[in-house]
Amino acid sequence: MFSEFNRAICNWLETSGTPGFAFSMIYAFVIGACFGSFATACIWRIPRGLSIVKPRSKCPRCGHMITASENIPMLSWLLLKGKCSGCGLPISSKYFKTELVMAILFTAVAAIRFHYKVPVTVLPAWIMIWFAVSSARTDLEKLIIPDKFTYTAMILAVLYSVCFPAYTAFRGESLVPVVVYTILSGVATAVFGAAIVFSGKLLFRQDAFGWGDVKYMIAAAMFFNVLGMMFILAGACIFSMIWFVIDRLRRGKFRKYFPFGPFLALATIVWCLLTIQKGGFVYWFCF
Ligand SMILES: [Zn+2]
Repeated sequence: MFSEFNRAICNWLETSGTPGFAFSMIYAFVIGACFGSFATACIWRIPRGLSIVKPRSKCPRCGHMITASENIPMLSWLLLKGKCSGCGLPISSKYFKTELVMAILFTAVAAIRFHYKVPVTVLPAWIMIWFAVSSARTDLEKLIIPDKFTYTAMILAVLYSVCFPAYTAFRGESLVPVVVYTILSGVATAVFGAAIVFSGKLLFRQDAFGWGDVKYMIAAAMFFNVLGMMFILAGACIFSMIWFVIDRLRRGKFRKYFPFGPFLALATIVWCLLTIQKGGFVYWFCF
């Protein structure tokens, strides 16, 4: 019964009069900008323990309540010329940049998936890109990847595998094996991640690898299988080493601690731009 329902939805998504590629891309861009705007609120509020729904956003300097028309992603910042309408002081451009980056990435991964006629798989890519960009920013600003991000991503991974088992990186004839594999991939990654954390502690006598990074990897494994998680971890290691060398050359000395989240995020974006998952397979379309 459930799988019939599921098949019907997937058929509808794949065959129903596609609204035109250009229209879909505009749609993806707008959705990306809106979720980017939501991300900026979460990035500010979650690490500070504030609610993400209430109260309305306000200017941190003069307390001016942001009205609905001042809350349109990207457009409002441009129309207000980056200034608060209450006090006239500049609003940080990082809100605009986060929304723009999210909109571009949402459009790029959607373009690939629409081209290859697997529109359903925009969901895991969008979800992980949202968490990647958000985690990168909280890790840069507060040196944490909040549990609210990683746990929510894990729950969404299970929900996705329940709703669209045929469009995951896990092979299974029916719903149950796919969901079980999704959860097992998370468990295996938790064990693997714990091993890295403890061996890092033994080797360097300090926290070399954080639990936030491990939880992020668990979420990645639950969406993209252990293969995807390994790709993201390896990619993040390579990116961070390159950055580490450049940073050493620029500053003249080694940095003692740096957040790993931005590198995990970068590798996640690369993975989402290079692969699609369907029927338990990972398709690489650039090689
Ligand atoms: Zn103000």
